[in-house]
Amino acid sequence: MTSLLRPLSLVLGTALLAGSLAACGSAQTGTPAAGLTAAVAFYPFEFVVERVGGDLVDVENLTTPGAEPHDLELTPKQVGLLSTADLVVFQSGFQPAIDTALEQASPQRTVDVADFVEFLPAGEDDHAEEEHAGEEDEHGALDPHTWLDPTNLAAVAEHVRDALAQARPEAAAEFGSNTDALLAELDTLDKELSAGLANCSLRTFITSHAAFGYLAHRYDLEQVGIRGLEPDAEPSAARIAEVQQIATREGVTTIFFETLVSPVVAESIAHDLGLATDVLDPLEGLTDASRGSDYLEVMRANLAALQKANSCS
Ligand SMILES: [Zn+2]
Repeated sequence: MTSLLRPLSLVLGTALLAGSLAACGSAQTGTPAAGLTAAVAFYPFEFVVERVGGDLVDVENLTTPGAEPHDLELTPKQVGLLSTADLVVFQSGFQPAIDTALEQASPQRTVDVADFVEFLPAGEDDHAEEEHAGEEDEHGALDPHTWLDPTNLAAVAEHVRDALAQARPEAAAEFGSNTDALLAELDTLDKELSAGLANCSLRTFITSHAAFGYLAHRYDLEQVGIRGLEPDAEPSAARIAEVQQIATREGVTTIFFETLVSPVVAESIAHDLGLATDVLDPLEGLTDASRGSDYLEVMRANLAALQKANSCS
């Protein structure tokens, strides 16, 4: 049915559809809606598809705002969306619920970020963890938090542009210029992070969940995760003692926690050592509590927090 309705809607214009599309979010400006729908796995991909698709694409985020995407579960309606959406943007290996549902679904078009992004091994920037390989079972695993390197998100934008252009060839030029604008903004952000983190008196930072490996890798910092890659795993007493030793040895000033995960462990370590706490946001979801209204703003807030904690000039 939907494949019949879409060309028809283009011929008839938007008047008939305006009512039904208004609920999807981007139709209130009166811009002609092309009727493209994209299902995205979690926030950073929502940001990219909204920017690349502009008013021509309605974006459905499969991870509810404020929810933590690692252990996503899908509703039957969301599973259905994987087959009906014009585009599904996800990263295989990160959210098992989406991987499993896609095995049964027949998506019209997918962008799987795992197909083109270069993964880092888990814990690459965390030397302390490597010494205790026996305690963690995530060695040999890959770090999924690819989007915290803006150049990776730029690659996502290019693939989304190509997929949307395939879905709606007559809008290819618009998707192209939207993408160019986004790539320029991501490039500016990358340069700001590079320059802003170049001269710091301390290069180690301690985070609640080890989500910042890509940021650390690109800007030559060293991440120490209290927890591993999974945000809700409880750290052992031995791991907490080890993190305290690193903090003291390196002269760390701040223990970072994040908006979607309980700050209790980070706060207790900071309290024991008389250190500050601050937020470093892995952008797995955006809420009213986020320090910014989009990916770019929150990444700049992360930059400011790191500069303060690590005395960068
Ligand atoms: Zn994570």
